[in-house]
Amino acid sequence: MTYPDLYMMIDGERVAGGGRRTHAVVNPATGATLAELPLADAADLDRALETAQRGFRLWRNSTPQQRAAVLSGAARLMQERIETLARVATLEEGKTLAESRIEVMMNIGLFNFYAGEVFRIYGRALVRPVGQRSTVVKEPVGPVAAFAPWNFPLGNPGRKLGAPIAAGCSVILKAAEETPASALGVLQCLLDAGLPKEVAQAVFGVPDEVSRHLLGSPIIRKLSFTGSTVVGKHLVKLAAEDCKRTTMELGGHGPVLVFDDADIDKALDTMVASKFRNAGQVCVSPTRFIVQEDVYDAFRTGFAERASAIVVGDGMEASSGMGPMANPRRPDAMERLIADARDKGATLHTGGERIGNRGYFYKPSVLSDVPIDAAMLNEEPFGPVAIINPYANEEAMIAEANRLPYGLAAYAWTRDAQRQRRIGREIESGMIGINTTMIGGADSPFGGMKWSGHGSEDGPEGIDACLVTKAIHEG
Ligand code: NAD
Repeated sequence: MTYPDLYMMIDGERVAGGGRRTHAVVNPATGATLAELPLADAADLDRALETAQRGFRLWRNSTPQQRAAVLSGAARLMQERIETLARVATLEEGKTLAESRIEVMMNIGLFNFYAGEVFRIYGRALVRPVGQRSTVVKEPVGPVAAFAPWNFPLGNPGRKLGAPIAAGCSVILKAAEETPASALGVLQCLLDAGLPKEVAQAVFGVPDEVSRHLLGSPIIRKLSFTGSTVVGKHLVKLAAEDCKRTTMELGGHGPVLVFDDADIDKALDTMVASKFRNAGQVCVSPTRFIVQEDVYDAFRTGFAERASAIVVGDGMEASSGMGPMANPRRPDAMERLIADARDKGATLHTGGERIGNRGYFYKPSVLSDVPIDAAMLNEEPFGPVAIINPYANEEAMIAEANRLPYGLAAYAWTRDAQRQRRIGREIESGMIGINTTMIGGADSPFGGMKWSGHGSEDGPEGIDACLVTKAIHEG
């Protein structure tokens, strides 16, 4: 598998070279450099902004039929290109090929959903006397600056591009410098499906330079960001300087409430797979296992057995159940968090160390009886670590779930129907899975509350987040 040449896509032109600074893109399974990525200078960003302004004037007047044709056409092309897209994503990010293919499928589902949803961007007419007319219309917000992280190299750009295009906006995407070719692959499907070149562009750069430049421009009317809460808070302040709309999908610290009436085997089978998906580098990853005392021993033993059986290896190998971590920062963070928890008295059941000295592999790790002041119980670990602690009753379990300022995804396992209702109501979280890990879908809003951000992607809400409301009164 050859890795593609890298470029920025500005006004339909592949921009690279010209003495620009570059960033080395690395294969996390080997540590080897795949290619050098050109980084934007101020002139590149100005050109992208001017193009986005033209793109918005053009696309805001597109018909639903045109938008639907582009979105469904891009979905068809992604289906045709699934193997190439998936292999590029695995090379750049490390996740298994099976996981990368699922990302392509998620994009296909989302683009097809939006292709239908564009026909349902409704306004309304108000009741008025004859001769007068009042209408409420939804219009695209304007050019969007979208920042996508590396953990879903295909899925994040798909979300960031799909919603603005469906809404009639133009978009400048800055995907992660770690995973540029995947983002360019998704964008190319849209362009090949007939999207005008002015409507969607891709730039890369020094993140702080790019975000300050784009958010400092009055041309950009909306910020869409996925990434850490720290960076999100910084960007939302930049956006506020110019009263720009924001959709912020930030960190999480997924609580999982396991009650003594749960189907423990089913909970273990699904939660272990979900925990170690993408080596735990998932914002909705289940992380804090809040387990009722009667099933605590069985749960942590079963979890550790299953975790230690996972085959870790290069994501390109069919035998690998979990790939490497995406960059050297992540195994460093795991070492720090696990050492801190053990120093404070936690028990390590499995894992807790790197694998080999090539690439960024880390063992699936399970800790129990982790003290509440351990760093991993307070900051998002974003890695292959499960924290399992015992609790006496529902009240204590809900209190622990809501203890942190994060509120993205939460999970619960119980057969008690009344308790299921209470969990749904009491947990402070944008998404809750009860007896399931399936908390998303093209038709379902994806987003958080509290420090996990605001606004939703996917579903009708994803398009609505790119629209403004206007009331027009005619006397
Ligand atoms: P980071 O916080 O530096 O970067 C996270 C993402 O934000 C990256 O894609 C990066 O390019 C981007 N970014 C950073 N500074 C930016 C800026 N000033 N302007 C625009 N974009 C900027 O850290 P990292 O080491 O890449 O990831 C570590 C942490 O980020 C994780 O622990 C996790 O909490 C969070 N993260 C969250 C998600 C998510 O899906 N919500 C995805 C990736 C990372």
